[in-house]
Amino acid sequence: MAAVAQNIKCSHCGAPVDFKAGEIIATCKYCGFTTVIQTGVAFTFDHSVLLNKFDQTQIETPIKAWMQSGFLKPVDLAKKSKITEKSLVYLPFWVVSVEVKTTYKGIFERITPAIVKDGKIEREYNWLVLARKASDFPTREYNIPLEGKVPYDFRKIEGFARVLNSEVDRDSALELARTQIETHHRFLLQEDVDKIIESRTEISLKQMVYLHAPIWFITYKYKEQTFQLLIDGATGTAIRGDIPSSKFGLL
Ligand SMILES: [Zn+2]
Repeated sequence: MAAVAQNIKCSHCGAPVDFKAGEIIATCKYCGFTTVIQTGVAFTFDHSVLLNKFDQTQIETPIKAWMQSGFLKPVDLAKKSKITEKSLVYLPFWVVSVEVKTTYKGIFERITPAIVKDGKIEREYNWLVLARKASDFPTREYNIPLEGKVPYDFRKIEGFARVLNSEVDRDSALELARTQIETHHRFLLQEDVDKIIESRTEISLKQMVYLHAPIWFITYKYKEQTFQLLIDGATGTAIRGDIPSSKFGLL
């Protein structure tokens, strides 16, 4: 795999393209050209980016704001914490825009006698699939601010940031989205009926966009323990953060 990697050059500017084993779609850091690694062919889908609004100093404002908000946190968290790492990473996502229709027949048992009920659930989603395999990134907790997306422009990527390539191709991302949406709709069904007799989910694809989103990976220390925090670089919103338990805070 390493031998293959050394031979890949950007077909647009000729610069060497960095990628690691398992990565499928790579973006040239010199010109922003996006290529499918296996074939070297230009990536023909929309490639967007969400812009980061913070530098290494500015990001401390949303970090402190997160530490000071919410009553689950130790009261001295913002004051006593030390930020030990602030890394900006552009994570690759597939945004799968779909219309979904589930029709079903089931038994509603919450009244006596139970009745057979037919129904329909219609939804539209911009379903987010992280294009990395090994990651515990909380995709479902991330309310991605899609309204801010612009065409990918390498000149807007900060020199100190890392851009991760995709390990998931378009077809696999679509398949993943389908499976996750079907599971989600089965969950929605269970709010309407107690036993499902039959159900059918139709998913029509409207659009798929490949997108890089700026995520700040923060590490902080509080009372000698290390905690992680993820912040959306486009909005400053905390996506997920470890909170020292209040019991711990009393030690
Ligand atoms: Zn290039």
